[in-house]
Amino acid sequence: MTFTHDVVIVGAGGAGLMSALYAKEGGADVAVVSKLHPLRSHTGAAQGGISAALGNEEEDHWLWHAFDTVKGSDYLGDQDAIEALCKDAPRTIVELEHYGVPFSRNSEGTISQRRFGGHTRNFGESPVRRACHAADRTGHTILHTLYDQCTKQGVRFYDEFQVLDLIMNPDGEPAGVVAYEILTGEVHTFHAKVVCFATGGYGRAFKTTSNAHAGTGDGMSMMLRAGIPLEDMEFVQFHPTGLYRLGILITEGARGEGGILRNSEGERFMERYAPTVKDLAPRDMVSQCIYKEIREGRGVNGKDYVHLDLTHVGDEVLDKKLPEISEFSRTYMGVNPKQEPIPVAPTCHYAMGGIPTDADGHVETKERGTSVPGLFAVGECACVSVHGANRLGTNSLLELVVFGRRAGMQMAKEVREGKSFAALPDEPEQETRDLLDDLLANTPDDGEPTVKVRTDLQETMMSNVSVFRTDETLSESLNDLEELRERAKHVVVEDKGKKFNTDLMDAVEIGFMVDYAEAIAASAHYRTESRGAHSREDYQNRNDDEWLEHTLFYSDGEGNYEFADKDVVITRFEPKERKY
Ligand SMILES: Cc1cc2nc3c(=O)[nH]c(=O)nc-3n(C[C@H](O)[C@H](O)[C@H](O)COP(=O)(O)OP(=O)(O)OC[C@H]3O[C@@H](n4cnc5c(N)ncnc54)[C@H](O)[C@@H]3O)c2cc1C
Repeated sequence: MTFTHDVVIVGAGGAGLMSALYAKEGGADVAVVSKLHPLRSHTGAAQGGISAALGNEEEDHWLWHAFDTVKGSDYLGDQDAIEALCKDAPRTIVELEHYGVPFSRNSEGTISQRRFGGHTRNFGESPVRRACHAADRTGHTILHTLYDQCTKQGVRFYDEFQVLDLIMNPDGEPAGVVAYEILTGEVHTFHAKVVCFATGGYGRAFKTTSNAHAGTGDGMSMMLRAGIPLEDMEFVQFHPTGLYRLGILITEGARGEGGILRNSEGERFMERYAPTVKDLAPRDMVSQCIYKEIREGRGVNGKDYVHLDLTHVGDEVLDKKLPEISEFSRTYMGVNPKQEPIPVAPTCHYAMGGIPTDADGHVETKERGTSVPGLFAVGECACVSVHGANRLGTNSLLELVVFGRRAGMQMAKEVREGKSFAALPDEPEQETRDLLDDLLANTPDDGEPTVKVRTDLQETMMSNVSVFRTDETLSESLNDLEELRERAKHVVVEDKGKKFNTDLMDAVEIGFMVDYAEAIAASAHYRTESRGAHSREDYQNRNDDEWLEHTLFYSDGEGNYEFADKDVVITRFEPKERKY
């Protein structure tokens, strides 16, 4: 079947919903296509907060926020986009509140704000309270509120439709997407004037992750297969405090409310590494420091974890401001944070890189300004780039709403100005149908269950491409991925049925995972310096002379790839050594 809409948005997390809302308000006919029910999107798992220099608790300024974001990015973020992000933040929070987000309050009745890593007052002087939050369920409230607003405005939802291909016609114009309806097993075409990807992150390529099962980077890989590059894929954020072994997130808000990291000797080790901000240093630093402590023998009980101590912050703070993480520690670890410290270790959390876009969401191909008409990306799958080499906590939720709004307005404007449908190619669904048929035809003689390939992929990414990297580990992962690419083509799908064949969708996803995992490992191998979350033990210093530039990765999807570079935009803040 062919569905026709002015605007088709793939993904119903915060980014997809915000852009849908604005595109719809701008007069376009908007459809949101999502493999999950919208309210199950990962945005709903965001805990700690969304930043804005409101100054409710103490003096603050959007320029301080911008400086922190640039410094946090290890000077790789594009400063024009960062200025747009931080300047628009206060207005955005007010807007979200008017839509209905129930932000927590302080004693004066204004929106409560707490500390978060890397957010400081007066250009690095001391930590500042900048993160607005709804207890530790901030993303949940934002997702529900935006979904309510979209429903009210008449956005059309196609839930549990998994998009498998971006349709580019022979003239190289995006004409829509091909989706698999999970309930029925039917394949459909969505024909659109404008296509926007808001498909979220890729944490599932790593063994330990805070990300939901659906975080398989589909959108990034579909773009790659359509000839679009991926930007800065080497920058993968490991969040310092995942529950040991499980990876489930304990928000940085826990440290924002006074939590302290301690090694086996009970020492507050972050004092040694970041004397000014201590436990509230940015995530790349804290994760690297935790591993240094472990390597030097100061992991707790001789194991590879440290303690997050919240026993001193008070029962009221834990009950009112951190109820969810208190519950998680009790349920999953049997640890009551009021009485004992929580065992934590870094967990794969966030994709700094992604589909290159400008500040209005247009997908860019090579140099700035060379965008593909009618093609947009927004949210975690996109790279604007406001996070550069390392994202500050709370800046992602902010990015979703600030750039979601801008992309939504821009899409509506282009439709109003007469953007027409690009012609569909003759058989738009053929490639997808062939892919599904091939996978269904594999027998146990051809290959193995998807889970085996996925586990091996997660193992090699975790051991070779996580917090510390070398030429040797990266080469090893690239060799492994070459082999995994072949194995992924031959996975055996046991369920041959049409209804809810998640086995088949897992088999498709492993193909996507190999593609973007290769983009991560190859880009990490290419960049011979250490910057932000990309820490090369064989190139330990940042090298601005050669590497103050973004990486663009192109691939033919068969293991052949090449790179190009893109300039970093610097407006006010000249690169300096990063100290906290
Ligand atoms: C546990 C956790 C806590 C976090 N806490 C914070 C925080 O406190 N503050 C902060 O700023 N950030 C936080 N983050 C980061 C932030 O939540 C995410 O970066 C952000 O929510 C991503 O939003 P998104 O809209 O881009 O994607 P998502 O919310 O991940 O949504 C992706 C959407 O794409 C759809 N999709 C994907 N592939 C397909 C496909 N093939 N076909 C159809 N649909 C598809 C999915 O169904 C889903 O609707 C946290 C992240 C995690 C994992």
